[in-house]
Amino acid sequence: MTDTKKKTILSGMRPTGKLHLGHWTGALENWVSLQDAYNNFHLVADYHALTTSLDTSDLYQNTIDMVIDWLAGGIDPSKSPVFRQSQIKEHTELHLIFSMLVTTSRLERNPSIKEQVRDLEIENITYGHLGYPVLQAADILLYRGDLVPVGEDQLSHVEITREIARRFNATWGEVFPEPEPKLTKFARLPGLDGKDKKMSKSMNNTILLADAPETVEQKLRKAPTDALKVRRNDPGRPDVCLVFTYHEKFNPEETGEIRAGCESGALGCVDCKKRCAARINEFLAPHIERRKEYEARPSLVEDILRDGESRGRAVAGETMEAVRTSMKLG
Ligand code: SF4
Repeated sequence: MTDTKKKTILSGMRPTGKLHLGHWTGALENWVSLQDAYNNFHLVADYHALTTSLDTSDLYQNTIDMVIDWLAGGIDPSKSPVFRQSQIKEHTELHLIFSMLVTTSRLERNPSIKEQVRDLEIENITYGHLGYPVLQAADILLYRGDLVPVGEDQLSHVEITREIARRFNATWGEVFPEPEPKLTKFARLPGLDGKDKKMSKSMNNTILLADAPETVEQKLRKAPTDALKVRRNDPGRPDVCLVFTYHEKFNPEETGEIRAGCESGALGCVDCKKRCAARINEFLAPHIERRKEYEARPSLVEDILRDGESRGRAVAGETMEAVRTSMKLG
């Protein structure tokens, strides 16, 4: 049951398997903190995954691995339904109706699509890929989402959702809210290959939430630091150092001391990285423990998905009733 006094948030991720620290800081941390104040719906965007790959052989396992990270990270499925987009047919139904309300030129102007397909000619983009923001609009508006937690790079998608909601309401009557973006605080955690690059599996520059302590230590040992700090006692510049960014996020109590030690040359990069790895491992330890509990009970994760799908379907069905009534579709 949704609490009608609370605003509704739809948040989703493509099922890419085990999550990394960038997913935590850019999305999951925010989702967990919003659980009590809002009605939340957590969507596994498995149809969206098809826009960039037709290989579905790992989709199920990637879904389970990702959902386990959601649950281990603190998503409470009794408060917020967790479900797969592909298991609620109303997503595709609303997507079809919405696809009549947006022009292809509008979708081609979408900066996020331009970014994703910059290496392709527009002729090589599939119909489904171009229409990705329309499917996203259906995902959000099916649950009549008031807010969408996003990073700045997804603001354009929310704008298309708002345009579609306005167009539907103006054409067939008021059914949908115009959702507002809710920007995440620490949206972009840099990857292990440099301060300016986003953490991403495709770049192979991640620390996974499931990484063992020795893996985290090993990954951080190879991370670049301030190029001017060559020897241990050289003064360094924390503000250009990737490792310092991780300290700011996962070791905020010690950043003053680390900054001073780095700038004076008293702290060497090897020790600094060890301290950073220790803090990240402290942060990850309870997550890894909770992950193991879910991994030991795979049927529990399936039950959680099935329950979420049943609850999601009930809300989606109500919305589609309102859509059909307002469109006079029988
Ligand atoms: S001491 Fe730490 S903050 Fe300074 S450059 Fe080395 S790793 Fe970066």
